[in-house]
Amino acid sequence: MGNPTGFINVGRALPTERDPSERLIDWLEVYEEIPLADVEQQASRCMDCGVPFCQSAKSEFAPVVAGCPVNNIIPEWNDLIYRGRWKDAIDLLHKTNNFPEFTGRVCPAPCEGACVLGINADPVAIKLHEKEIIDHAFKEGWVVAQPPSARTGKNVAVIGSGPAGLAAAAQLNKAGHMVTVYERADRIGGLLMYGIPNMKLQKELVQRRVDILAEEGIVFVTNTEVGKDISAAQLESDFDSVVLCVGATVPRDLPVEGRELKGVHFAMDFLKANTKSLLDSEHKDGQYINAQGKNVVVIGGGDTGTDCIGTSLRHQCQNAIQLEIMPCPPGQRSAENPWPEWPKRLLVDYGQKEAIAVQGQDPRQYLVMTKKIESDDQGNVKAVHTVHITWQRNDKGQMFPQEVAGSEKVIPADIVLIAMGFMGPEGGLIEQFGLEQDNRSNIAAEYDKFATSKPGVFAAGDGRRGQSLIVWAIDEGRRCAREVDTYLMGSSYLP
Ligand SMILES: Cc1cc2nc3c(=O)[nH]c(=O)nc-3n(C[C@H](O)[C@H](O)[C@H](O)COP(=O)(O)OP(=O)(O)OC[C@H]3O[C@@H](n4cnc5c(N)ncnc54)[C@H](O)[C@@H]3O)c2cc1C
Ligand code: SF4
Repeated sequence: MGNPTGFINVGRALPTERDPSERLIDWLEVYEEIPLADVEQQASRCMDCGVPFCQSAKSEFAPVVAGCPVNNIIPEWNDLIYRGRWKDAIDLLHKTNNFPEFTGRVCPAPCEGACVLGINADPVAIKLHEKEIIDHAFKEGWVVAQPPSARTGKNVAVIGSGPAGLAAAAQLNKAGHMVTVYERADRIGGLLMYGIPNMKLQKELVQRRVDILAEEGIVFVTNTEVGKDISAAQLESDFDSVVLCVGATVPRDLPVEGRELKGVHFAMDFLKANTKSLLDSEHKDGQYINAQGKNVVVIGGGDTGTDCIGTSLRHQCQNAIQLEIMPCPPGQRSAENPWPEWPKRLLVDYGQKEAIAVQGQDPRQYLVMTKKIESDDQGNVKAVHTVHITWQRNDKGQMFPQEVAGSEKVIPADIVLIAMGFMGPEGGLIEQFGLEQDNRSNIAAEYDKFATSKPGVFAAGDGRRGQSLIVWAIDEGRRCAREVDTYLMGSSYLP
């Protein structure tokens, strides 16, 4: 702890956001650069706590897991930053996180929610520090391919190239196994590539890491869907072990009248096509759902919905609205949501800020239920019919929505985007492997063991735990790699 009074004398400061008028005409990241000297000042706010809650996502500490899921060694690298020892900081950060350039940008930072300083002041800017350590390391040329010095002669197939698959592949390759990653999309990265929009995570950063992994010896096979283009049985016979990192890609649907109309899409179809067209041709190929001049209604108030708002505004939509069936969260933590839990409070994210700048108000409307989607005479969506609700409890204690009489509304819509979350992994491949599923349809495999019901077949990431976060996918991929290594070799040196 270099500066014992940093937490008193230095206020929390983050990089400036580019003005919406500037950022809405491109697809580049939202934040400006911040001088390294300012980051070193920020790092001096860390108190080097005896019990650093920031770094330990342990369920023993709270009713819900709080702190960093990959157990980043946060106080140590805060101190290294403060002392200007950036090279040591990246070496330490890479010990626990294979891809800090992703989490440093898009993690919601449960570490900051659990930071001890956050009890009565603004938490340490941990996420910023993570991003600056890795960005500086890339600038300095410190992040280079490090192929393993020896090979074990074992080979592993990883299905799915999202953060879980990439983390598992990276760790298994480090242990000396030959790793082949199968991906059905045309680009590697899973939701890092084709879910999270470019302005949150620029795709050259994903590709830069994939290139390093390829240089380290990992084989990437794109445009190949396991279960269709190559069978589960083939993989089982060709490889010593198989790891399923297939994500939770089945979207929750909205079973209302008019769901089938032209102009009603799942959010992921909108977001994926947008990024693919952007990367393929800077949108010149027109192979995306264009919201230009359209009234867009996004159903779902979460992060995916926000990404739809930000994307629609960049298309120069006429208007964008985001409907949420749950109540608006409080401005601050409530008494039922104490530190070090993740604070459930109203945040105004980049997409909402942009909508406020363009449309004059937050696009979110709370406690709104969609009743039906109205058609024009050509089968195109024309409007969304909604009603306000309140949440009530029935005599079994279960919550149910009760409509507020007279609160019906008709919202004009040319595009409706369904962003209501995900139900779990797709079934076909799981059946082909003959794997058991849990009661939420995820692949059944215990956390920290990751072994499925079939010997030699493992599962990690959203396909095992349900739709979650990148940092949890990285954590699962890493831990799963250790279990696969133990299965293949009898023991493992992997963390
Ligand atoms: C729009 C959106 C925005 C998000 N934003 C954030 C964010 O800001 N921060 C955050 O922490 N989390 C965010 N998330 C959640 C996060 O992206 C996921 O939790 C994470 O990507 C899960 O990683 P994964 O590796 O388990 O699966 P995925 O990233 O879903 O990857 C699974 C991969 O498996 C491939 N696949 C599936 N079946 C097969 C098959 N049979 N053969 C070959 N390949 C197959 C898929 O094509 C996909 O590429 C977001 C999610 C969405 C949808
Ligand atoms: S909890 Fe906050 S103040 Fe304490 S060590 Fe972690 S980052 Fe530093």
